Amino acid sequence: MKKNVIAGNWKMHKTNREALRLVTRLMKLMEKHPPRKTEVVVCPPFTALAPVAELLKGSAIRLGAQNIFWEEEGAFTGEVAARMVRGAGARYVIIGHSERRRYFKEDESVINKKIQLALKNKLQVIHCVGETLEERRHNLTQDIIINQLEWGLKGLTGDDFKKVVIAYEPVWAIGTGKTATPEQAQEVHAFIREILNTLYGNQVGSRITIVYGGSVKPENAAGLLSQPDVNRALVGGACLDARSFFKIIQASETT
Ligand code: PEP
Repeated sequence: MKKNVIAGNWKMHKTNREALRLVTRLMKLMEKHPPRKTEVVVCPPFTALAPVAELLKGSAIRLGAQNIFWEEEGAFTGEVAARMVRGAGARYVIIGHSERRRYFKEDESVINKKIQLALKNKLQVIHCVGETLEERRHNLTQDIIINQLEWGLKGLTGDDFKKVVIAYEPVWAIGTGKTATPEQAQEVHAFIREILNTLYGNQVGSRITIVYGGSVKPENAAGLLSQPDVNRALVGGACLDARSFFKIIQASETT
């Protein structure tokens, strides 16, 4: 069912000590103003999952991983399995982030395998989709989104979709300081709902949580988050500072 989610993608930042400091600050801020209608998720690097999980015990903040491998286990040096992140305390996992598509050449079939494994291991999925600047300029945004939703989510059941959040992250807006306008975000979010209804039926699109990602900051959060189909945000840079992230959570609460 649709819910408001603010998730922070820490990317490759923070040692364990820094991670604990950041989460401690965030918890203090949230203690004074506990969010009533927003699920807050933090996604630190793998190394910090277990210590952050320990710190978060009893807190409403959820823990997420930034990736998993596409096989259950085995001789895959350096990779981390869904079962391991779940065991370390993660309840969410980000899959299909544009940085993984770009630097690690992840395509829809790899993304689909990861999503299936995540769901099997009781992890909620934050599935990232979005077009590059080149694709937008060539009017290909809708084609790209259809392809990502069709192949990335292939084979999912109605029950599976209850554990999936879609993150619309236009690649040209990630880490660039360029944000989609609230109208641009709303237009694509509404389109995503329509396509999911068409592809998967049963009102999957109408019911799913769709968050926006791409240079969301305290200054632009209210405009983006007040759009009817924007069920809040996946935040990169601004989540590395407890106060900025908290201000975005507050924007989610008040819009
Ligand atoms: C992201 O990486 O998911 C993201 C949205 O990053 P930023 O907010 O820094 O653009």
